[in-house]
Amino acid sequence: MTMNIREKILIVEDEKSIAHFISTILISNGYETILARSGAEAMTMASSHCPDLIILDLGLPDMDGIEVLRSLRTWSSLPVVVVSARSHERDKVEALDLGADDYLTKPFGTAELLARVRNAIRHTRTTSPSGEIAQRGTYTVGELTIDYNKHQVLLRGQNVHLTLSEFRLVALLGKYAGRVLTYDYIIKELWGPRASGNNQILRVNMANIRRKIEKNPAEPEYLFTEVGVGYRMAENDD
Ligand code: CA
Repeated sequence: MTMNIREKILIVEDEKSIAHFISTILISNGYETILARSGAEAMTMASSHCPDLIILDLGLPDMDGIEVLRSLRTWSSLPVVVVSARSHERDKVEALDLGADDYLTKPFGTAELLARVRNAIRHTRTTSPSGEIAQRGTYTVGELTIDYNKHQVLLRGQNVHLTLSEFRLVALLGKYAGRVLTYDYIIKELWGPRASGNNQILRVNMANIRRKIEKNPAEPEYLFTEVGVGYRMAENDD
């Protein structure tokens, strides 16, 4: 695996053995995983943990996974791979119509799971509305470098290991360094128009990034907050 960013995957699954199976495969293939065991927990974690992808079981103890997907799609376009024992075409169509990116029928194998996950993530990247990931070259300010070719952010030459969402946020701000980008603009660019108005996902990502790159996150040197407006990346001198 040549990817330098570890994508964070939220697994929504109430059956421990299946959750463990999926998680083990993903971790051994370089992904980071977090786990929700109910629909309610999934909803909370999707907004507070900012995953790059959700693997969603439809048979959950507190609600149907379809309801989780329906509710998620009112504010987020992050990729969702639905997993279910139901093999009826009707269920697949319903999930895909509601905005699921792919569908896995239980039981499934390791290779199939990994292929679907890779695909769903690649799909979001290439369809990113602003194409900010397509930017080439590097941007350096102070001791910070954004390497657009390698999808890395370096601090004093060391990779700071951002998640995919965190990298995309830094990449976007770096592309427009010196300019204030509004919360709404950033959210729409990174998470799609359906995420509009959900500032929580942005705040959580920003806090995580600052912890990784700022000496003192309360007095940032690189990523500034314009209170009530948005964020701005420091401009370099040349
Ligand atoms: Ca289940």
